[in-house]
Amino acid sequence: TKWVYTFGDGKAEGTAEMRNLLGGKGANLAEMSNLGLPVPPGFTITTEVCTYYYKENQSYPADLKAQVEEALAATGKLANRKFGDSENPLLVSVRSGARASMPGMMDTVLNLGLNDTTVEALAKSANDRRFAFDSYRRFIGMYSDVVLGVDLHHFEEELDGFKDRKGYELDTEMTADDWQAIITTYKAIVQRELGRPFPQDAHEQLWGAIGAVFGSWMTPRAIKYRELNEIPADWGTAVNVQSMVFGNMGETSATGVAFTRNPSTGENAFYGEFLINAQGEDVVAGIRTPQDITEAARIASGSDKLSMEKAMPEVYNELVRIYNKLEQHYRDMQDIEFTVENNKLWMLQTRNGKRTTKAALRIAVDMVKEGLITKEEAVLRVDPLSLDQLLHPMIDPKAERNVLASGLPASPGAACGAIVFNSEDAEIAKKESKPVVLVRIETSPDDIHGMHAAEGILTTRGGMTSHAAVVARGMGKPCVSGAGSIRVDYKAETLSVGDKTLSKGDIITIDGATGQVLIGQIKMLEPELSGEFAALMEWADAARTLKIRANAETPLDARTARNFGAEGIGLSRTEHMFFNEERIVAVREMILADDEEGRRKALAKLLPYQRADFTELFEIMSGLPVTIRLLDPPLHEFLPHTDKDIEEVSKAMGVSEDKLRRRVNELHEFNPMLGFRGCRLAVAYPEIAEMQARAIFEAAIEAGRKTGQKVKPEVMVPLVLSKMELDLVKGRIDAMAKAVEEESKEKLDYQVGTMIELPRAALLADEIAQSAEFFSFGTNDLTQTTLGLSRDDAATFLGNYTDKGILSHDPFVSLDQIGVGQLVKLAVELGQKTRPDIKLGVCGEHGGDPASIHFFHNVGLAYVSCSPYRVPIARLAAAQAAI
Ligand code: ADP
Ligand code: MG
Ligand code: MG
Repeated sequence: TKWVYTFGDGKAEGTAEMRNLLGGKGANLAEMSNLGLPVPPGFTITTEVCTYYYKENQSYPADLKAQVEEALAATGKLANRKFGDSENPLLVSVRSGARASMPGMMDTVLNLGLNDTTVEALAKSANDRRFAFDSYRRFIGMYSDVVLGVDLHHFEEELDGFKDRKGYELDTEMTADDWQAIITTYKAIVQRELGRPFPQDAHEQLWGAIGAVFGSWMTPRAIKYRELNEIPADWGTAVNVQSMVFGNMGETSATGVAFTRNPSTGENAFYGEFLINAQGEDVVAGIRTPQDITEAARIASGSDKLSMEKAMPEVYNELVRIYNKLEQHYRDMQDIEFTVENNKLWMLQTRNGKRTTKAALRIAVDMVKEGLITKEEAVLRVDPLSLDQLLHPMIDPKAERNVLASGLPASPGAACGAIVFNSEDAEIAKKESKPVVLVRIETSPDDIHGMHAAEGILTTRGGMTSHAAVVARGMGKPCVSGAGSIRVDYKAETLSVGDKTLSKGDIITIDGATGQVLIGQIKMLEPELSGEFAALMEWADAARTLKIRANAETPLDARTARNFGAEGIGLSRTEHMFFNEERIVAVREMILADDEEGRRKALAKLLPYQRADFTELFEIMSGLPVTIRLLDPPLHEFLPHTDKDIEEVSKAMGVSEDKLRRRVNELHEFNPMLGFRGCRLAVAYPEIAEMQARAIFEAAIEAGRKTGQKVKPEVMVPLVLSKMELDLVKGRIDAMAKAVEEESKEKLDYQVGTMIELPRAALLADEIAQSAEFFSFGTNDLTQTTLGLSRDDAATFLGNYTDKGILSHDPFVSLDQIGVGQLVKLAVELGQKTRPDIKLGVCGEHGGDPASIHFFHNVGLAYVSCSPYRVPIARLAAAQAAI
């Protein structure tokens, strides 16, 4: 097997395509070499050696040593030196490099091959003793720290003490003799800490460093990072061994890092820093203040130090030529590392640069304009989820943070306001235009109006799919959930963490991006949707076939959805319209009535509200499709529990509080999510469906008259498990349509369809499609019922399942494609068999998740519906699925 790949002198055995085998760094060093760029020669030991190393009890393949020797000789030949030679030694760096750049891996070791003999040779050939001993002491420090495990601070303390005694401030004041003295001390430290001398043999040094790179693959830090980023352990890391070039050879030498475009704004301007007479990480380590590369940047920063453009004009021009070539070649913004040795430029690394979302948009759009990439490529360049950052206000990255506690980043954006502990107070504050943050142990549907009124929501219990999290995301409100270190005392109206206590009215800021809870008001940046955003979304819209609708019921949500480009409403949850002071009393009256007459009386009170709500919704969505779901949630969510509520309802109904309490107890359910809910309500109490259908149809006619646009409502029946069940409800809806047509003397154009959210409905979809004109997959409930996993309770143990790999991810966040996905596929096939033109869509959290959207695109759905703030994300994800 070939374990080693060489590069240098305008050619290489590898290419950029061989990233899996050579790691990112190795593949790009090979590619730059092939491009004829000046790359110090060297070789890459493949990731397969790493895999072998761990499979074979931490040993190397038998033929590796010979291959490394051969590559070392070839590298030495190109550099006119010989590894381990005492007259003309080849010095190398040893650099780790996984497929994906990975913190936690071994740090680079520079100047390897130096020892008491070769340091003299280096001094002679460079004609510079100071430089040679500086390099040697750097090597001893780095190697001891990274490979031998002797902490760097031992060395730093010695150096600092030495400089103090000499009255020096900067390393540059150290003379050759000073460095030589330090080296003696450094070697003594190693002897003291390890009980053995610093290795003098170059080969021993090299194999020690190679072993340390492979060893670092399995450090707890690296393992944790891979876990978090879903990087498989069997990928392995490569090791790059590369001949040294020296940026610390005096005033004509330097080292630097740069981005070919600005990584935070995306501006097409070369951007970077360098340091004269420095090596390796000096620039980022902050030993001295780095200098700007371009003169424009120096003027902008007001630095009094020369820019590279002025200090080394020729090298600078060469660097500009190279970065242009790299951008043209990779067709993306590059992050580069370089070193200048005696006015000669050497390239040490290139990779696609990390960037903010704002920069990603700008760079992608600019590169299309420059003819570098196509529109489709631009669409593929931006991570849909990252758009979230742009759509919400965020905390100024420069602002100081006084962190009180941390929870889960449950809904993005930042919010600031006075603390309130209940929804009533939130509403009162809203009326007074006072911004508040609603703090609850956990939220329930009762809190929806309070959540609406608040700027943001903080809970001390509950996970990413808790009620608070889901509803907040739906509303586009920032939310931090499960901040477990906070104790809330509702009675005293205080919250405390340790010995810190805040009271109602105190100002806090929550950061939905990080999950932090901060004391006081923190400076925020408002979202700005740039021209680049609009351009990219336009290209995405042209590429996608999936339609994007929104889940919305309030006028505000509907307008937001349209602003974000929604093409209709895929789910309007009528019950959300019931949680409001006057209406909830009527709803409770309806539920608690013990006969049809009582229910009809209460429903008659609700009819005008519903009709007005729907009319407004239809007007806002003028002409776009609107799906309205009939009443769905378990009734317990509406029941009065407090004495005050029971008193109110008892007055409204004219029955005693005792009797009411009895009725509430009767309606108690052990498992409400599998209880009396969904269309079961309409089957038992058809008058509910009738009232809702009347409100929908009358609103359609009214809105149609007002806007001059024919409204085509889609009436959706939830939680269906058989055709007959659907028919019972559909019969009432159709009859109501006839009645409204006769009364209004207008024809209605409407559809009746169903949600597919029970496994039985998916299995019998062909039958159900005989009556249903559309299916909307309610993937939240379908996940819940297919996995038999309550989404309200799963948060406490789901982490255990994903940690152990039993589930690859939270199935409520991203569709369980191999399980629940099969039911979706089956229902699509069966539904289309019965009714080839059946309209197919999905509503629920998954409609805004990019991975799920790919799946829905592939099974041939017509649309996805998601919360308004997810609409841009869904548009982009749908485009990526189609490209
Ligand atoms: P990282 O992955 O942390 O960026 P690198 O392997 O890129 O680590 O090394 C860090 C720095 O060390 C490089 O940016 C470069 O300045 C310096 N370096 C690495 N190899 C060499 C070399 N052969 N000659 C000179 N400097 C080198
Ligand atoms: Mg690097
Ligand atoms: Mg449902």
